[in-house]
This record gives sequence, structure tokens and C-alpha cells, in this order.
Amino acid sequence: MTNRVINFNAGPATLPLAAIERAHRELLDFQGTGMSILEHSHRGKEYDRVHNETVDLVKELLSVPDNYHVLFFQGGASTQFVIVPMNLIPVGGSADYVLTGHWATRPYEEANLIAKVRAAADVEQNGKFTRVPKQNELKVDSKAAYLHITSNNTIEGTQFFDFPDTNSVPLVADMSSDIMWRPFDVSRFGLFYAGAQKNIGPAGVTLVVVRKDLVEKARTDIPVIFRYSTFAKENSLFNTPPCFSIYMMRNVLSIVKEQGGLSVVEKQNREKARILYQVIDAYSDYYCCPVEKDSRSVMTPVFRLPTEELEAKFIAEAKKVGMVGLKGHRSVGGCRASMYNAMTLANIQTLANFMEKFRKANLEA
Ligand code: PMP
Repeated sequence: MTNRVINFNAGPATLPLAAIERAHRELLDFQGTGMSILEHSHRGKEYDRVHNETVDLVKELLSVPDNYHVLFFQGGASTQFVIVPMNLIPVGGSADYVLTGHWATRPYEEANLIAKVRAAADVEQNGKFTRVPKQNELKVDSKAAYLHITSNNTIEGTQFFDFPDTNSVPLVADMSSDIMWRPFDVSRFGLFYAGAQKNIGPAGVTLVVVRKDLVEKARTDIPVIFRYSTFAKENSLFNTPPCFSIYMMRNVLSIVKEQGGLSVVEKQNREKARILYQVIDAYSDYYCCPVEKDSRSVMTPVFRLPTEELEAKFIAEAKKVGMVGLKGHRSVGGCRASMYNAMTLANIQTLANFMEKFRKANLEA
């Protein structure tokens, strides 16, 4: 395949080519069964093997302790914005949210429709979010059902590198845009979730990892299909799961495993970020990252050029040389280079070289 572009889309995002090729190879006749995995019953042994292999890969790559469930939901991360409070906030209880950007504010607003929730920190300043809060800025209610964070703020380009200390309050995270960017201690969390379509697969499946005791004491006066306990009891096979998305997650995660797991992935990701931010900082007369240095995202760096016209030209010229998806989110403008796990180091080097050349050619503009 020579005509693949360098895809900086924020999600759905670039996937490892080998994961797509494997699907291509297996598509028409899955393991000699005379049908594709798309057509298999979710109750059959062929799909069951794929399903359990995917669960096992998540457990292995993240070193998930035995007292956690690994679950697959539909409805995207946005549905978890609702399912989390429905399950975890008891009658009359409340929960705390850390407001660090658009995708941190949305779950807070949704939870607010279900129960009483508080902002434990809000780092918005003049309508902008340019950092994540420090531990001493968090006002955690010791009676909160949980504290919710968004570990990577996809639009604003900020990321938590140290997770908050919450004492006995369970930590809950939306990890949609940085799940598996590095190894981390799962036992620090009560629950985390991630829409797969950025770092671990295609759209259609949402990974949820949740501590078993939280599921046991979760509310049961909610519809069966929204209960974590339903998914936990049935190994996410209570109803038809998003089989093909889970199959693709299996393909992606087996490649991550082959590459050597998350510590290898972390090294690559840090190097990619180093290269990109180095260009931005080296040419600070031209490029500017609006994020405070210690909050700069490794996954979704954002940057600006001197004018919006130059930004439009930068995005258009990058496209001409095979780099797509560099436009920032419409709500903030500018540029964004999403650099999820499947984005190679060589591609980031290509982008960095392009940025250097573009500046030189457009300095006077
Ligand atoms: N959380 C974060 C951090 C996101 O970046 C996004 C999507 N860009 C969402 C939630 C929403 O995800 P979904 O479309 O899967 O509902």
C-alpha cells in the first residue's frame, strides 16, 4: 500500500496498517468458516474466542488486577457520561468533576441532570482551558461518590501526567484520547472508560474497566441495559455486542502486544511529542502552543501560526503533501496533530520537517 496518507484525525483516527491488513485478509472467510466475522453469531465459538482474546489483551496490556471487570459498551464515551452517574451516585448522593475543557464539561453537565454534582476544580480562564489543575487546587468532597477527570483533553491539547490523589473517593476517568498511551497503575482508579476510536480501535465500542466492589454496590433501580452489573455478569454479552469493532480492537491490541507492550509504546509517544514540541519551541516567533508546558498533551498537541490565513494555508499545503487532519477543533481553531499510538515516529519527523520548511517559505506573509 503506497497511497496511504499521514492521518492526523482526532478520532476516528489512524490505525496500525497491520491491523487493517489482517481484517482484509480474514474478511471473506474467517478462519475457514465460510463467512466473515461480521456474519458470525455473537453466541458462536468463533466470535467467543475473539471476544475473550480482546478482554485478555486489555487485561494483559494494562495489568488489570483481578478485582476489576473489563467491559465493552456501545454508545461511545458520551453514553458513559450518563451511565457512570446512573450507576455510581447513590440516592441523595453527589459526585465531583474536574473541569478541564469541553470533554470534561460535557460529562459534568450530563451528570447534573441525574444527580447533584460539584466542580472540584475549574481551570477555565477567559473562556480558555490551557492546563490541568495541580493537586492542591482540587477541592474534593470526601463524601462524593467519585471524582471524575478527563485524562486527555482532546480539543484543548492538555493532559494529566499525575493522576489526582483522592484518598477514599474513587477516581473515575474518561481516557478516550489517551488510553494505553503508557502503562499506569489501574488500582488507582474506581473506573475508567474510553471510546475505542482514537487509540485502540474503530468507533462502535467503548472500553470500561471498573472495580468489582463498585459494580456490586451500584444502583439497581435503573434499566437493566444501563447497569454495569448486567455487563459484568454476562461478560458484555447480555445483548449483541459491537462484534466487528471488538474484533478490530483485538487486531489493534495484538499488534501493541507484538511491539512489546505499553512501555515500548510510551517511549515512542514521548519521542514523538518531544520532536513536535521542539519545533514549536525552536520557532516560537512563528509557532505557538497555547498550553502551559507541564500540561502539554503527548497525544493531541495543539498549535497556532501567526494568522488564521497562514493556518489555513498550512493545513492546505500539508494536505497536498499527504498529511491530513491537521485542522484544530472548530471551537478553538488553530492546528492539532493527533499523535495516537498508531502514528509513527517517522510521520512526526515528516510533519516537523514540513513545519520548518513552511515557516521559512512563509515568514514574510
Ligand atoms: N471524551 C473525549 C476525551 C473525547 O475526545 C471524545 C470525542 N472526541 C468524547 C469523549 C466523545 O466520544 P464519543 O464520540 O465516543 O461519544
